[in-house]
Amino acid sequence: MPMSEAFKARLNPILPDIVAHFGTPFHVYDEVGIRETGARLKDAFRDVQGFREYFAVKALPNPHILSIIREMGFGFDCSSVAELVLSRQVGARGDDIMFTSNNTSASEFEAAFADGGCIINLDDISLLKKLRQIPVRICFRYNPGERRSGNAIIGKPAEAKYGISDTQFIEAYRQAMALGVQRFGLHTMLVSNERNHAYMVETVKMLLDLITTAKRELGIAFEFINIGGGLGIPYRPEDASLDIHTLGQEAAGLLNQFEAQHGYKPDLHMESGRYLTGPHGVLVTRAINQKETYRHYVGVDASMSALMRPGMYNAYHHIDVYGKNATGEERSVDVVGALCENNDKFAVQRPLPPIDDGDLLIIQDTGAHGHAMGFNYNGRLRPQELLLRSNGDVERIRRAETLDDYFSTLQFPPNRFSPVQSIQTFAP
Ligand SMILES: *Cc1c(COP(=O)(O)O)cnc(C)c1O
Repeated sequence: MPMSEAFKARLNPILPDIVAHFGTPFHVYDEVGIRETGARLKDAFRDVQGFREYFAVKALPNPHILSIIREMGFGFDCSSVAELVLSRQVGARGDDIMFTSNNTSASEFEAAFADGGCIINLDDISLLKKLRQIPVRICFRYNPGERRSGNAIIGKPAEAKYGISDTQFIEAYRQAMALGVQRFGLHTMLVSNERNHAYMVETVKMLLDLITTAKRELGIAFEFINIGGGLGIPYRPEDASLDIHTLGQEAAGLLNQFEAQHGYKPDLHMESGRYLTGPHGVLVTRAINQKETYRHYVGVDASMSALMRPGMYNAYHHIDVYGKNATGEERSVDVVGALCENNDKFAVQRPLPPIDDGDLLIIQDTGAHGHAMGFNYNGRLRPQELLLRSNGDVERIRRAETLDDYFSTLQFPPNRFSPVQSIQTFAP
């Protein structure tokens, strides 16, 4: 089920007023929904001591949202300097932040160590040599290669650029130990938008098997295992929800079994983005043009600059036409933006009620990897973000981009370099 009935009940009665006040297009996020999902996640893992969610900041990198998530006691998963800065801006420090970068540069490591530090998650053995400072604790990202199947969005693990290989696993921690590191974690991230809880349980088991091997070979007891993000949400009306409760219970069972055998158990970490915020955002856009050629097109005032997933992954986002229910008069339309890119479509051959210019379209499940993924190709600007607060107020938490923003990187003092002249000047 896409957008919940409860979110609809909160948003729909006030939507015309919100539109009148802020204008379209906008993403609007639902504080109540985000808090409820956070509570459900905690409840599902209540029997796992040391459970902690590290919200994947890239999914919805807005400090107003991050503050809500921090209030729930969650940490942040960052993979860029900007994400570190945002997390620290809302007060996260040290163990509150997991830095899961890949192809990491020296300046990124510097930012990770600065300002209260964070948990460093290394994507490769070769990065150990490049750390200018030895962290108290090291975590590696593990890639099982052919041992696991992966899924559509993220691809096969063996073809993914992330993580250390299975044969490097022991050697990676051996080298970290040789550098004097004494505290360890293990991370993996294998799937994206996976709604089968059994796959995630299998990941817990895989990581527990690995740390059992590391204990035997290297004598180290891991402080935590991190099963990554990738928990799925139902984008289509017919999609079933992930059974988060069973995932939590089965993970608890595996950890207890591990403890019975080894006398200790690691904490369990997870870094979901989509699961926490995805269903709690919608993109509201207005129909501005209709066009009948080989197909019927409905042009709206948002473009893929506001939501890339349909164009990039062929992803389905459910659409409601505000105030128009299914009446049997639906016809198949392509809902399109204004980019000179034929994949600038929010929906392709989608049965929708008859749409008139001026109608509002509610494009659903844009609370993760929505606004954040937007780009400026073709000079298309990204829209504003609004937050529907628990008390019913609506706040603008990011303004729309302007042409001045778009042109700002062209405004700088001249810096001219003439290589030919400098050769003449400095040649012996
Ligand atoms: C993107 C990402 C996540 C979050 O993925 P979701 O599908 O939003 O849960 C978590 N961890 C890492 C390392 C990521 O790159």
